[in-house]
Parts: sequence; C-alpha cells; structure tokens
Amino acid sequence: ETYLTRIRLTEPQLKSFLHLSDAVLRDAGEIDRKIERNEEVGPLAGVFVGVKDNICTADMPSTAGSRILEGYRPPFDATAVRKLRESGAIVVGKTNLDEFGMGSTTEGSAYQFMATVGGFSLCGGMGSRSSEVTANPWDLSRVPGGSSGGSAAAVSARQCVVSLGSDTGGSVRQPASFCGVVGLKPTYGRVSRFGLVAYASSLDVIGCFGSSVADTGTLLYAISGHDKLDATSSKREVPNFASVFITQDFSESKPLKGLRVGVIRETIDSGVDPEVISSIRGAASHLEELGCIVTEVSLPSFSLGLPAYYILASSESSSNLSRYDGIRYGNQAVSDKLASLYGDSRAQGFGSEVKRRILMGTYALSAGYYDAYYKRAQQVRTLVQKSFKAALDENDILISPAAPSVAYKIGEKKNDPLAMYAGDIMTVNVNLAGLPALVLPCGFVEGGSVGLPVGFQMIGAAFDEEKLLKVGHIFE
Ligand code: GLN
Repeated sequence: ETYLTRIRLTEPQLKSFLHLSDAVLRDAGEIDRKIERNEEVGPLAGVFVGVKDNICTADMPSTAGSRILEGYRPPFDATAVRKLRESGAIVVGKTNLDEFGMGSTTEGSAYQFMATVGGFSLCGGMGSRSSEVTANPWDLSRVPGGSSGGSAAAVSARQCVVSLGSDTGGSVRQPASFCGVVGLKPTYGRVSRFGLVAYASSLDVIGCFGSSVADTGTLLYAISGHDKLDATSSKREVPNFASVFITQDFSESKPLKGLRVGVIRETIDSGVDPEVISSIRGAASHLEELGCIVTEVSLPSFSLGLPAYYILASSESSSNLSRYDGIRYGNQAVSDKLASLYGDSRAQGFGSEVKRRILMGTYALSAGYYDAYYKRAQQVRTLVQKSFKAALDENDILISPAAPSVAYKIGEKKNDPLAMYAGDIMTVNVNLAGLPALVLPCGFVEGGSVGLPVGFQMIGAAFDEEKLLKVGHIFE
C-alpha cells in the first residue's frame, strides 16, 4: 500500500511507467497467506520490481516504447521475469524507454503519456510540469537518461525497490548515473536474453537497478544463469552474489588493501565536464583510502569504440527489426497490396530515430560498403577487447565516469542525434568487450534545487561481477 501511494503521488510528475499491474495487491496478499501458512516464499518475496517495457511480460503489454508494438501482449514471460516471479517478486509495472532502446534520454519513446493505468486512478493533479516525457526525480526539467530512463527514475523516486533495464551501449549505466542510483550491466551471457526485445543481439544484456549495491546484487543473483532458450547464455556457475554482503568484514581499516585500480586516462580528459572529472578523482581517492593501489591506465583504442558501436549496433538492429512487418505483431496499416502493407506498417510504426538506425545499418551492411564499415568496425571491436584484456591483466578493476556530464535539460539534445551519440562514449566500449560494469553514485554537482548526482563506473573482468559488487558495497 505504501508503494502504491508513493506511485500515485509521484507518477503524475515523473511518468516512469507505461503500464501498471492491477494485480499487485492480489499478488502481495498471496504472499501474506503463504507466510501465514508457513509455506516457502522466495528470497524476493513481496519485493516491488519495475520492468523495462522491452522485456516481455505475459500479464501486461510489452511495447518496447514503439507504436509498431502497440497493444502487443506476449504469450510468455521473459526468462528474467519468470525467475523474478519464482523468487516471489511482484512486477509492479512496465517502465518507459527510448523506442527499442535506441536513445539516451527516454524522450525517444513513442508514448509520452501514461498509456495504461491498470487498476489505478492517477488523476491526482499534474504537478508543475507541462512536458509529457519521463522526468528526472532530482530535477523535473531534466532527462532521466536512457534508454532505461523509466526504470532508473522509478528506483530513484522509490516507486519500486529494484528494477530491470537493458544495456546495449550504456542504457542501464548512464540513467543510473543521471538518477543517482546503482546500475549493473552484467557480463554478456550472464543473464538470459530470452524475452528481451532484440536491439543488437551481440551487445544486448538485461541489467539491474537498485538504491544500494546489496539490492542490485541480490536482484542480479535472482535473474542470472544458463537458459536453454538463449544459446548465448553462459553455463558458468553463478556465485551467490547476495552472500557477498553478508560475509563482508567492516572492522578492517583498509578492507580493499592491495586491490589494483586503473583510472582510464582517456575518460578524464577534454570533452568531459570538469565537475564530473573532480567527482571521479574524489572516488579514486576514496578507493585509495580503503587500501586500493590506484594508477592511471591508457586504453589507446578507447575513442574508436563509439563509431564502431554505432555501426555495429545499427547493423544488427536493421536486421533484427526486419521482423516487424505488420503481419506478425502489433500495428497493421490498411492496404490491399502486400508490399505496401509492409512499407506502410513500418512507416507508421517506427519513430524517426529507429528509422535513422535502420538506414545507417542497412547502408553499412550493403554489398559495396560492407568492408569499409561493418568489417572494419568488427576489427575495431577486436582491438577494444584486446586493450581491455591487457588493462585488466594489470588491474583488478578499471574506473571511469559513467557519462561525460550530469543529466541535461529535457529537449536539449533531442534534435541533435550526433551530440546524443557522443554522450555514450563512456559506456559503449564495455558492451563491445562484453564485460561487467557497476555504476555507483559518487557525488553531486550544483544544479536543480538540491544538486545533481554524478556516477562513476567500475569495469571488471568477464564474469567477475562478484568483485565489482564487493568493492561497490565497501565503497558506498
Ligand atoms: N544510447 C545508446 C544507443 O542509443 C545505448 C542504448 C542502449 O544501451 N540500449 O544505442
């Protein structure tokens, strides 16, 4: 009831959700009854979870923020959602996002208003904001980041305890930084992608938001593991991430003694807000106080990651999005000819950023340009992987800002796609390399009425989420 009241109060201003479940109280009552009967309840019993609307849920629509999937109700739950429900969690609703995960502000959603309110009445006044897009809880005139902006805003405003997002090039980490919450991008393959609407399949991962490292790690543990429905999910054993927090010894004065931390030189350089850089330096000295050996490390291929990412992500998306033909899912245009039925359904169903990606991707994959763009970008990807490997052989973790700036104003970059892409520089390399990364709040800069949060990113070796969570838990 407390969470529902909180949602009723905050949602008219924030607009983090696209759909709210009308079965939350029933689900919660069911858990209460199980507890009364002394029956087994899962480790997340009664925990309110928000789920990004590109992750399939059988009991609510799953639109991926696109008109082309308007009204689509999957006949199944994504594996991550199924596991959450089996752990006792309650899915409270589906959160807003940039269409198909393409964007960095959540302004790219096709739905700029509450699409479905389930059993709730949310007409309790519109607050002070006139804009209809998802807002940043720290300053309603700013973006929450994206593409998982709804999931980050919902946790930040305590509309739910934890939430799921997806991260193809930074969509969990950058909004976590903008909204002052913890965001975790797992290693590629750690969490099943079954039921995650595909954007760029070789980069996509489902990730976690929480207001503490412990919450975030506990959520990761609940959704991790091999799944025969996703051939790229790993068979590696999943350590009990939740136990990291129970066994931590806080009596040590230097609990991180000897841990080698590399600050990525290219990320604290020109083009990054000086206030962000000083917050990252502050985080680095805090790690030093905790016993870490902090040095600077150079990743020479760092700046190549951004163009390579946009070529590869657009190429894969142009292929993945060919399934939306107006026949199998969602919206269908009225037409008596098959070719124009496909064409019109796509023209009406996709937004402008999605069309831009499809055009860029189709161009990069076309016969005459394949070698110059797609193949070259794959070569850069290998370079990026090698340089991370070398840096992580010398260091336990690498750190950088999560974004070059704090949250900016709604509308500021909306009509400048290149400026928007440039803001992803801190995060995309990690997806190219498939590595895990944890974003934590590390300070505030002036802005809004109470200040704006800054996040820093810790990158670990593949499948070493446990180390990131340990360090993050001590850090916070
Ligand atoms: N902003 C990046 C993009 O638009 C990353 C998005 C994501 O991680 N889903 O591609």
